[in-house]
Amino acid sequence: MPDLTTDVRYVKGIGEQRTKGLGKLGIRTLGDLIGYFPRAYDDRRTFRKIRDLQEGESACVEAMVAAAPTLSRVRKGLELVKLRAVDETGALDVTFFNQAYMRDNLRTGETYTFFGKAEGNLLRRSMTNPLVEREGSRLMTGRIMPIYPLTAGISQLMLVKAVEQGLAACRGLLPDPLPDEVRREHQLCRVGYAYEQIHFPRSEEELAVARRRLVFEELFLLALGLKRLRSRRETLTCAAWENIDIADFYARLPFALTGAQRRAVDEILADFAAGRPMNRLVQGDVGSGKTMVAAAAMVCAARNGKQAALMAPTELLAEQHYRGLAPLLEGMGVTCVLLTGGMGAKKRRDALAKLASGEAQIAIGTHALISADVAYRDLGLVVTDEQHRFGVAQRAALSAKGESPHLLVMSATPIPRTLALIIYGDLDVSVIDELPPGRQKIDTFCVPGSYHQRIYNFLRKEIAAGRQAYIICSMVEENDQIPDDRKAATEYAKMLQEQVFPDLRVACVHGRMKSKEKDKVMGAFANRGTDILVSTTVVEVGVDVPNATVMVVEDADRFGLSQLHQLRGRVGRGQHKSYCILISDNRSEETRARLKVMTKTADGFKIAEEDLRLRGPGDFFGQRQHGLPALKVADLTCDVALLKEAQEAAEALLARDPALEDHPVTAKRVELIFAGSGDALN
Ligand code: ADP
Ligand code: MG
Repeated sequence: MPDLTTDVRYVKGIGEQRTKGLGKLGIRTLGDLIGYFPRAYDDRRTFRKIRDLQEGESACVEAMVAAAPTLSRVRKGLELVKLRAVDETGALDVTFFNQAYMRDNLRTGETYTFFGKAEGNLLRRSMTNPLVEREGSRLMTGRIMPIYPLTAGISQLMLVKAVEQGLAACRGLLPDPLPDEVRREHQLCRVGYAYEQIHFPRSEEELAVARRRLVFEELFLLALGLKRLRSRRETLTCAAWENIDIADFYARLPFALTGAQRRAVDEILADFAAGRPMNRLVQGDVGSGKTMVAAAAMVCAARNGKQAALMAPTELLAEQHYRGLAPLLEGMGVTCVLLTGGMGAKKRRDALAKLASGEAQIAIGTHALISADVAYRDLGLVVTDEQHRFGVAQRAALSAKGESPHLLVMSATPIPRTLALIIYGDLDVSVIDELPPGRQKIDTFCVPGSYHQRIYNFLRKEIAAGRQAYIICSMVEENDQIPDDRKAATEYAKMLQEQVFPDLRVACVHGRMKSKEKDKVMGAFANRGTDILVSTTVVEVGVDVPNATVMVVEDADRFGLSQLHQLRGRVGRGQHKSYCILISDNRSEETRARLKVMTKTADGFKIAEEDLRLRGPGDFFGQRQHGLPALKVADLTCDVALLKEAQEAAEALLARDPALEDHPVTAKRVELIFAGSGDALN
């Protein structure tokens, strides 16, 4: 009996050749095949008599080839096959470009179904390159056709046939991962029907029914998996930490923590005392002061004779954290070491020795913290900063350096609540929803490129007053799909320096620079050694230069709102009034509405919700970022109600059958979709 893990090669009717083709699309098993859903549909159900064809309308016509098709070569590389087809109402002229074989395929006197866009007028109707099928065949015509995502060498027809074979192979045999009672309670169709209809729907209504069931299934299984991960984690234990009074740490800070910071710290300390490994996300808008929350947690670790590691995504950030935290911590008798890829061999050896012996309680660094040769004496707390930049694997690797250490992840990417439900379904979340006092509103403007001169004048004024400015251009980003064609940061910086600000100090930093070089430029800017920093988005995350008051973003329409919000967060970090200027010549309604959001609100969550609404969840929900299985049918922007329903159903099922012992099919599917993510979410 075939099941979803059966290799496609064993599916009847799928040969060697097709197996290879399918492999290119990542289709290896029967489950992959029938789970390869169409990205769109083409409704080819309309049949017309020739006389009734509407110009511009796509329709099927059943007509007889009236005379032998003719082939002509118009010029080199252009072959035309022409024929006339008739039904009892009229004649249709059909032309094929570069499909010479059509001359021999179509026989005079035979009737075929032609599907295409009708052209011409009442007297002469025509179709160009229509799909043609033998009358009554109904493979490509006369129905709602699925449109599959393709790759080179694979055609729609080939996939249609393969999927049909796949569906036929498991007709009536597919085990249903949705328990009957769940299916009934939520009025969902059967699994077999759902798969048939999602590929080859008989009508819009049936497609909707199928889709609803599959979306529900997907979200239900995901919710089950996450809840099980969470309950599995809750069975882990570790020694409860006893010394969780950090009043002296608070006393040493140059400022009082905000209420929200205190709350987050208290939640973390309570986790430490609970005797279970913590898994907590601290989510706080840019500038909300997450670093101090991490510092408090690390101090507590040291107090308990444990070590803590703080991992930042860039050397620059790691060094900034080290510079900021080391003096504070050392003042309390806690020894810190810095560990980055770029540091010298001797310094590195020294740091490693201190970590191995336990002489240093705190390690601050980049992914260098997880290199194979780094050993900790007793790593009890792992903190990752700006966690969305880290792969799940990197986090897991750091955790593996200790014995079920407490895990704290800090993120400035506000995740809309709907997504947080899913993405962080298994993490506890502390939200820092308050900024430190005295922060001023950052005035934000959207202007067209014609404002450049005015902007330059404004920058000059700010710099004369002792401030600094960032100018962001969107080029030279690693893995950027956008061609490297305009305003490359270096050229732009050169132009500014030579033509606009010859008397000021302009520097440039971009993602293709070596990190040493990058850090040097950033360091100089932080020490007021330069006035204007032209940059690509490398400054997006975490850089703290309180004296900078202007953020100019060129081609702002190329950035997502959340990204713009992060960029804006680079200014307004000191006591000076700050500004954000978004430049865009894109006049489209939608773009302008999007950028307008930035001028209206400073609330990262609102901005993220808006981003989600306008751009879809892709940015938030990359598998890359979260290690979660990608969603195939569910669209989180519009399936929120169903998500809630599915989550409740998952909860209810686990309450009845916590280990899913009575639901082996469901259990197996959950395992299958989480295969590979392992303890990734931990
Ligand atoms: P983020 O949450 O973006 O990581 P940081 O931790 O970098 O924010 O903090 C931003 C700035 O605010 C830093 O300069 C930090 O010293 C300062 N800061 C943090 N907490 C407070 C507070 N409670 N009161 C005043 N300033 C604070
Ligand atoms: Mg930060």
